[in-house]
Amino acid sequence: MSEKRVLSGMRPTGKMQLGNLLGAVENWKALQEKYESFFFIADWHALTTNYADTSELKAMKADLLVDLLAAGLDPDKCTVFTQSKLLEHAELFVYLSMITPLPWLERNPTYKEQMDNITDKDLTNFGFLGYPVLQAADILIYKADLVPVGIDQLPHLELTREIARRFNNLYKPVFPEPQALLTEAPKVPGLDGRKMSKSYGNAIYISDTPDEMRKKIKMTVTDPARVKRTDPGDPDVCTAFVFHSIYTPKEEIPGIEDACRAASIGCVDCKKRLSDYMLAKLEPIYQKRQELLARPDYLKSVLEAGEKRAREVAQATMAEVRDAIGL
Ligand code: SF4
Repeated sequence: MSEKRVLSGMRPTGKMQLGNLLGAVENWKALQEKYESFFFIADWHALTTNYADTSELKAMKADLLVDLLAAGLDPDKCTVFTQSKLLEHAELFVYLSMITPLPWLERNPTYKEQMDNITDKDLTNFGFLGYPVLQAADILIYKADLVPVGIDQLPHLELTREIARRFNNLYKPVFPEPQALLTEAPKVPGLDGRKMSKSYGNAIYISDTPDEMRKKIKMTVTDPARVKRTDPGDPDVCTAFVFHSIYTPKEEIPGIEDACRAASIGCVDCKKRLSDYMLAKLEPIYQKRQELLARPDYLKSVLEAGEKRAREVAQATMAEVRDAIGL
């Protein structure tokens, strides 16, 4: 086990899709084996965009915990907690807000992009502009050495590093500058080939029953030019084939490609084969979910133990922070 500490969080904004599983949680599962790891349910971050309707927030948080544990986070190997239970994050957010120049936030590419793209919500609120400062507080309070990020999140981490540097220069060197742990994740399309999204109705959720999953996989879009069983297909334009490339053993992929191009396999059989491989990975997660749902006391105890451990670290950092600022 490395001495280094890892931190990451996930917003509870809806049922977990395959993209979250493959893009984040699979990676967290590997990291917990190697590093001291803190993973949190980012409920305050969910509020930055979903502040107007919180009716489902509690249920989504509970669901996310079950999803994370079912997908393989092991509370004996990592610390799992809820952000809003650690008020220390909010205190550090206040101090970091004081020293973060506004232009650093205004130039954040995600801020600009989301302001343009999210048109059904009013995001002209301070919480949304300032969320990278809250993120910095989340990371720095645990003095995380490594933060798993996708390439598009690098500017956020750079901002955290800049804020840490500014704090250290203004007061005392309290914070290490966290490094990015670049995560390579497969791009997971929706069943219709578009981006996987709840609003397009094209998502596979890890809470889907095995039957629902099989039905969804059957609906996956294939090569649109392959109308008849005897037409040769093109795997390069087939969404089902993208899933094959993620779930089917590597050594079988060339055979599927050849069979598709030679029309020696039909799409129905091809997707049946895909379904078997996907279910082999996803059904155990579904079963684990069911087991966990029947153990509410255990779920509660996981969060309580996680919060206790997170608080020990957060409080120690905050003592240093207050001292450094001279409060
Ligand atoms: S045979 Fe398989 S890879 Fe080829 S178009 Fe059909 S589903 Fe896609």
